[in-house]
Amino acid sequence: MTSSEPVSANDVVHDVIIIGSGPAGLTAALYAARAALSPLLVEGVAEGGPTGGQLTLTTDVENYPGFPEGIMGPELISSMRAQAERFGTRFVTEDITSVELTAQPVVLETASGQQLRTRTLIIATGAKPRRLEVPGEDELWGAGVSACATCDGFFFRDRHVLVVGGGDSAMEEADFLTRFASKVSIVHRRDALRASAIMQQRVFDNDKIEVVWNAVITRVNGTDGQLTSVTLRDTVTGEESELAADGLFLAIGHIPNTWLFSDTLETDDEGYLVVEEPSTRTRVPGVFACGDAMDHTYRQAVTAAGTGCKAAIDAERFLAGGGVDPVGTAAVAAAR
Ligand code: NAP
Repeated sequence: MTSSEPVSANDVVHDVIIIGSGPAGLTAALYAARAALSPLLVEGVAEGGPTGGQLTLTTDVENYPGFPEGIMGPELISSMRAQAERFGTRFVTEDITSVELTAQPVVLETASGQQLRTRTLIIATGAKPRRLEVPGEDELWGAGVSACATCDGFFFRDRHVLVVGGGDSAMEEADFLTRFASKVSIVHRRDALRASAIMQQRVFDNDKIEVVWNAVITRVNGTDGQLTSVTLRDTVTGEESELAADGLFLAIGHIPNTWLFSDTLETDDEGYLVVEEPSTRTRVPGVFACGDAMDHTYRQAVTAAGTGCKAAIDAERFLAGGGVDPVGTAAVAAAR
């Protein structure tokens, strides 16, 4: 926390609490702070990796406007945080363990048992890496298996590593890993990549990278608690084979961190929060959602920041209207 004011005394009711410290949460905090709403941002530590969200796990960000030479993910997040703090955002570093969304005010409980109360809540909890869910994966997690090349790539100097997935993340991870590894094999379940053309080209141009097409990993194998190989199944012929590897990096998409809210709020088939587009309103008045927790289509840092901005403006208008949604629709009213 960056202020001497209490944040959790029973009589303190915040105007805006934001859960999540990625681009969505920090942009919401910036806008709410500049609207003199003294937002409190709760940066969790359990879901989706370290505080700051997934950008802290990435390297060069070349597509965030305003940085013609690119910027490192952690540096971008740290600048966003400083900017939100400059206008009065206060921070609590703790996980939220339960929420009462339909209470007025909304009540949040943290892992240490603090209760936080707020008139509006902005959910910006992001998403976490999807797992393969095959035998051996859990046992060898952190012993060769990882979902973060930025964090763990350094340990694989002159080794052979695998990257699973065919999207931009897989291309980016593979390219990054060639800084350390002697060889990187991308294992993809189809015969065509999903990644953007520029990212694909970067991979095809890199002599250290090969692509293993039409292959899924059915088992992760280790010796003495350390990854040694994976078992592959050819998706066309059904044949099984073994591929030796020192490291395995998963880049197969994400799962939204929304389990805390899914009892009360509407989610889609994949667990993403549903909002009343084009606003960020959920079905509960005063509760808004932004960033990767509600966006399974674009999932870019810049779109997350954009929806964070919208959520702060929606919260500000809700408060200005005395807790009544200014656009109040039947759906919102019915949720109560
Ligand atoms: P993604 O685009 O959803 O790609 C996930 C990949 O994993 C797909 O190729 C998918 O295969 C594969 N996959 C999913 N489940 C699998 C499983 N159980 N076993 C094996 N393979 C599996 O996810 P992403 O790459 O993380 O990208 C997400 C978003 O972030 C995208 O919009 C992307 O453009 C963006 N992004 C941008 C950058 C950048 O521009 N610098 C970097 C990273 C991400 P199929 O193709 O067969 O479905």
